[in-house]
Amino acid sequence: MCSADPAVPAAGRNGSGPRSAGGTDGAAERDLDGFGGVLLDVLVIGAGQAGLGVAYHLTHDAAIAVAVLDAAPVGQSWLDRWDSLRLFTPRRFSALPGLQFPRGPGRYPSRVQMAAYLRAYAAHAALPVRTGVRVHRLFTQGSLFVALTSAGPVRARQVVVATGPFHRPVLPSAAAELDPEVTQLHSANYRRPADVPAGPVLVVGGGNSAAQLAVELAHDGREVTVACPRLPWYLPEDVLGVSMYWWIYLAGILNADRDAAVSRYIRRRGDATVGTELRELVRRGRVRLIPQRVIGARGRDVTLADGAAVAVTSVLWCTGFRPDTAWIDIPGAIGSDGAPLHDAGASPVRGLHWMGLPWQTRLNSSIIDGVDRDARRTARRAIAALARDPRMPT
Ligand SMILES: Cc1cc2nc3c(=O)[nH]c(=O)nc-3n(C[C@H](O)[C@H](O)[C@H](O)COP(=O)(O)OP(=O)(O)OC[C@H]3O[C@@H](n4cnc5c(N)ncnc54)[C@H](O)[C@@H]3O)c2cc1C
Repeated sequence: MCSADPAVPAAGRNGSGPRSAGGTDGAAERDLDGFGGVLLDVLVIGAGQAGLGVAYHLTHDAAIAVAVLDAAPVGQSWLDRWDSLRLFTPRRFSALPGLQFPRGPGRYPSRVQMAAYLRAYAAHAALPVRTGVRVHRLFTQGSLFVALTSAGPVRARQVVVATGPFHRPVLPSAAAELDPEVTQLHSANYRRPADVPAGPVLVVGGGNSAAQLAVELAHDGREVTVACPRLPWYLPEDVLGVSMYWWIYLAGILNADRDAAVSRYIRRRGDATVGTELRELVRRGRVRLIPQRVIGARGRDVTLADGAAVAVTSVLWCTGFRPDTAWIDIPGAIGSDGAPLHDAGASPVRGLHWMGLPWQTRLNSSIIDGVDRDARRTARRAIAALARDPRMPT
């Protein structure tokens, strides 16, 4: 397996790979100096944790030409999140293969520490990352993939799309029906309490973002109401002084197959809210919690599923995200709802793979701890496909 162009980086070919923590930084970004004529064995799109994880296994398990492209600097997804964000996964569960998360004060890393870790990881593992390159369109041409990028076209025999499931904010139709005088913000654009005008705020959503931001705004002295589709399912951060992550890991839940009974149960029940601070604030009357879905809006009122109306001046929509797949122009790759079609990350389109999708194989597929197993599996699949298919460029 080789590239048509020896200039294509193929870092870490059969190397022993990094095995310990380190504080390196900066040198990860390789310069491809334009892409004219380049044929890659594997193009990885996205240098977040999912893309870096699969690049690690691709470059350390085989001698193939790999490049990882990202529109943004490594770690930017984390830096784009709100200022106070601390991961809900402890350091031990926030690392990628081959490099421990550095020790430090506090059990949970901050978003800035996470971004720094990812930058250090890319450098430490010598991954062939090039940032500042957006893929505008991906399509097939004969047996190859062509990516039209901001730095020119790139051809590849296999492609891993690792562009993250949390990029296109989802807003319910009620958002468009609200009076323009009402301030509206999606959690994707929230950074700090000052972003929400003084006065009461309705936080809409039943996930961890809604819980964390409702708590932050309540601590900022706001009158906070939370509207969520059902009563939150609170998980304490720790039990007997040990992080809840250890317990669900030890119980086999984190790594249970997506079709296992426990995984099906969790999917039915919805995401748990990590931590019990919101419950405490609700109990003390500091936050009002309404377990009703928002189904519409009229004027300055938000309408709930039970017919009740809540008057609002500011709304913080913590209503989730969907992946941005509009740039993928490959028949059979994307469903009618815009979601990737796949079986455990393998697309029905030959040579196309996904990484980092929620429930790709298990509960932890879209969090850092799950990257290693899915990345190893994806890399093996891509490497095996390259070995089976000796086609060379036309
Ligand atoms: C608010 C929030 C909190 C979270 N907290 C935790 C936590 O505590 N612990 C945990 O384990 N997980 C957490 N997650 C889940 C998950 O770990 C993160 O979303 C993580 O960023 C996902 O990594 P990723 O590599 O899949 O995608 P991303 O980090 O989103 O990386 C994708 C990369 O692809 C690039 N990209 C996208 N489109 C293109 C394109 N067309 N061309 C070129 N580049 C492109 C982007 O610039 C980006 O760098 C959280 C998620 C959210 C939203």
